[in-house]
Amino acid sequence: MGLQRTLSIIKPDGVKKGVVGEIVKRFENAGLSVIAMKMKTLSRNEAEGFYAVHRERPFFGELVEFMTSGPVVLMILEGEGAIAKNRELMGATNPADAAPGTIRADFATDIGENTVHGSDAIDTAAFETSWFFAGIEINTVERI
Ligand code: GDP
Repeated sequence: MGLQRTLSIIKPDGVKKGVVGEIVKRFENAGLSVIAMKMKTLSRNEAEGFYAVHRERPFFGELVEFMTSGPVVLMILEGEGAIAKNRELMGATNPADAAPGTIRADFATDIGENTVHGSDAIDTAAFETSWFFAGIEINTVERI
């Protein structure tokens, strides 16, 4: 599988619930390194462009409203199999279906306000990391 990078977002509900530290801790404990990180309130254009693949879905308007409703924490996570590992830590999209001990099972409100985003494949990870981060903002982290 090899070393991968993936985009993680702590969504506005995660920031408002005060679980940023807890979520980052789970990533680090699982061997994922934060190699880029910033807090930002997304503009409508930034959120719509990021979720462009969902433009035709019935929940698109609600999704963009929610994602622009408060600051988010944007991160690039790096590690062996980082894309799948992050998805595993996140749990299923609908917290009602998320495995016990996952981030969404523990903190999400519902299928919309589900606390975290994680890229789902190599091509989306490449698009999503470059949507929010310039090369100069990405660091080299060697775990000790
Ligand atoms: P993910 O990859 O697990 O985040 O799930 P998807 O790619 O299917 O959906 C992207 C995001 O759209 C989800 O994380 C939710 O925030 C939102 N979403 C998905 N389904 C619904 C829905 O039925 N209603 C609302 N309001 N939002 C949804």
